Amino acid sequence: MIGILAVQGGVREHELVLDELGVQHRQVRRVEHLNGLSGIILPGGESTTMSKLLELGGLLRPLIDALTSGLPAYGTCAGMILLASEVLDTRPDARCLGALDITVRRNAFGRQVDSFEADLDFHGIDSPVPAVFIRAPWVERVGDGVEVLATVPSGPASGAVVAVRSGRVLATSFHPECTGDARVHEMFLAMVSEAGYVHEV
Ligand code: GLN
Repeated sequence: MIGILAVQGGVREHELVLDELGVQHRQVRRVEHLNGLSGIILPGGESTTMSKLLELGGLLRPLIDALTSGLPAYGTCAGMILLASEVLDTRPDARCLGALDITVRRNAFGRQVDSFEADLDFHGIDSPVPAVFIRAPWVERVGDGVEVLATVPSGPASGAVVAVRSGRVLATSFHPECTGDARVHEMFLAMVSEAGYVHEV
């Protein structure tokens, strides 16, 4: 059972990908929805709003505890921001989950290219992955043990780090759930199978 954090943002797109892959899923809005999960997806949306709603709903601490206990997680865009240990260009009261030792910059691509598409070489996937960036963050620092899986290939943001993995946690600046290519989700599901974790609240 895969959870999809559903306090705000693009939940439906991830549900459709998991449906296509024949994977059971459940929306996570309250603490009890974490029970029995083998993995969780944090969707795109607006990270500061998600942070506020997580705090107000009492889900912030239980989610941090679940990630610390070993619940595998995949964050897209705002989900990547939430998983980070440090966030630049955010609100001073925004909280993050600290599951990935990375520094991300919100809305990093600037106005001219703030939304764009690119085909990315993605470590572990054998042909280029189409990527949709929507007011996306990029990764400015990766800590020890964090593997860079993809960078922007060309253009003004060439070289920017946009996909990372550390242990059971995967994050992309972009939205594979919007392209019809399920291979990044399949990579996450392989991590989930390998972890063999079931969360108990
Ligand atoms: N710019 C958004 C944020 O800072 C993220 C955008 C997205 O998830 N597509 O939260």
